Amino acid sequence: MSSKLEEVCLSYRLIRYGARINEIKIMCPGLTKKELRDRYYEVHQCSARSGKNPTKPDFFFSTRNTHRLSSYLANSFIKLNLVSSGSLVNCKDTGRFVDAYEHYALDFDDELIGISRALLLLKELRMGSISTTKCDDCSVPYIISPITPKLYSCPYCAIKKQLERLCCHCGEPVQDRGRCRNKRCQQSQAAKRRQAITSDVSSLCSVALPGL
Ligand SMILES: [Zn+2]
Ligand SMILES: [Zn+2]
Repeated sequence: MSSKLEEVCLSYRLIRYGARINEIKIMCPGLTKKELRDRYYEVHQCSARSGKNPTKPDFFFSTRNTHRLSSYLANSFIKLNLVSSGSLVNCKDTGRFVDAYEHYALDFDDELIGISRALLLLKELRMGSISTTKCDDCSVPYIISPITPKLYSCPYCAIKKQLERLCCHCGEPVQDRGRCRNKRCQQSQAAKRRQAITSDVSSLCSVALPGL
């Protein structure tokens, strides 16, 4: 069993990332909900988040970037031997879980995947409803789900390809929907399109006129 001091330290680390009280209570069973609520208030100067914990694993596949970040987290959980161990109740597991999450939060400071979702990801990996597969091209493992019908390709390769796509007009990288990021290029393309339309109209008029 873990000591009270260990649990107090862990609860602080979980609270820092805005974990919900019921989630912390599961990971630090020796602490009372009141203690946790008070500690949460002490850290954030506001009450702990209420509402249900996230339950839908679809989120992890919602965009390429989410898929990439979820895959990164899943790989950290696997590396830290978290996926094969039992239920997430002892301090040893919780400590490693927070270690993995802290690494993620340091590497990607946008914190797209909140700690509650990270916990859900770990649960799904343990249940086997999410697993990982290695990419044939870049050999980085990424997450897949046998329960979702859609087939997912490697998010790392997809993002790399996306970044490598360059505008055929100015040579700058293009955005998600294939639009050039360069404002000047956008304007000149729009001007060319306008010009093309006007010349089309005038050529139509010139063809139509002699017949009148
Ligand atoms: Zn790949
Ligand atoms: Zn361009």
